[in-house]
Amino acid sequence: MEKKLGIYMHIPFCARKCLYCDFLSMPAPRPLQAAYVRALRNEMESQASFYRGYRAETVFLGGGTPSLLSAAEIRALFSCLHDCYRIAGDAEITMEMNPGTVTGEMLAACQSAGVNRISLGLQSAQDEELRRLGRIHTWEMFLQSYRLCRAYGFDNINIDLMSALPGQTLASWRDTLEKTTALTPEHISAYSLILEEGTPFYETYGGESTPAGSYERENTERAGDALPDEDTERDMDDLTKRFLAERGYARYEISNYARKGKKCRHNCIYWTRGEYVGFGLGAASLVAEKRWSNKREMQAYLHRWENPDGGQGREESGQRLSRKEQMEETMYLGLRMTQGVSLVDFRRTFGCEMEEIYGEVLKRYTAMGLLRCADGRVSLTDRGIEVSNYVLADFLL
Ligand code: SF4
Repeated sequence: MEKKLGIYMHIPFCARKCLYCDFLSMPAPRPLQAAYVRALRNEMESQASFYRGYRAETVFLGGGTPSLLSAAEIRALFSCLHDCYRIAGDAEITMEMNPGTVTGEMLAACQSAGVNRISLGLQSAQDEELRRLGRIHTWEMFLQSYRLCRAYGFDNINIDLMSALPGQTLASWRDTLEKTTALTPEHISAYSLILEEGTPFYETYGGESTPAGSYERENTERAGDALPDEDTERDMDDLTKRFLAERGYARYEISNYARKGKKCRHNCIYWTRGEYVGFGLGAASLVAEKRWSNKREMQAYLHRWENPDGGQGREESGQRLSRKEQMEETMYLGLRMTQGVSLVDFRRTFGCEMEEIYGEVLKRYTAMGLLRCADGRVSLTDRGIEVSNYVLADFLL
């Protein structure tokens, strides 16, 4: 029987770097993008023989900003994917897009390539907040992109939002939630801003960091607004949860909400430790209990995949995960989902009771009201989700 697989393809290009972003993405000239797409196709073609026994249930073209690719490049990438890999007939095929880069020609190319889910990066419905983030678009530009996606018949759309932004208030966050849900997307990801080291935001709000470029510095300095205090941030989280529930979005992961039947199947593979392979710069894979990541240096990646290698070398390094590491991942990834982790699945996978390994932690956090054990599953309570970083860290053995 064929094994299930998720396939991720990474497009590391953005029109401009957002001030908070530490993803592997960069502005790049067209010729570099074209060379990258060629390399990505060579990689996918060369690695295909290793995945003969698999059928992809999900595909995710992420970034970066995949919608910066031309329609021809999108067609070329997906035709390579379909030629080289077995893709399930009902596979979820997602492409990330950013407002300001979405065109009818590109959407038509996505449609004929089988893309059936779109993830749009909005972050905020307030133009001033978007400007402070260094985003390239306004709310109005987002609306145009969203409507265009709907006009092309896409009926499974995610919108990415972000709270705890500089200068953001509870009222402006409520307005963002209000305007976003009024559009009735099928899925909403609502993250809190994290100050990542090495970003201009970290330098401004989080302490020392590497010097920002002149464009970034100039914009960061203009963005002098303070971050919301801890109480406001907690109120924002509370509002997100209540507001989205009232509008019919069920929380199924710490930061992800969906209408019935519209969870992101691809991300669920990550949280449940299903097998997935990542192609492209820095892309990560988990196959046969081995984790590895591709090269993160553009020139090294391009050089490696200048030509197809006929399936001679698998892009993997590192050891098979130990049983202990597998247990840790099962818990700290699985507990991110509101469904939690099944006691029976744990026993079946590891041949011992969860209690034997984690008895003390389970007892402590259950007594504190941060974990619950019901219907054969262990999961975080609402209060546990609020302090999930601390609770999940305790599942490291
Ligand atoms: S669009 Fe997304 S990936 Fe690109 S710089 Fe902004 S946050 Fe990063």
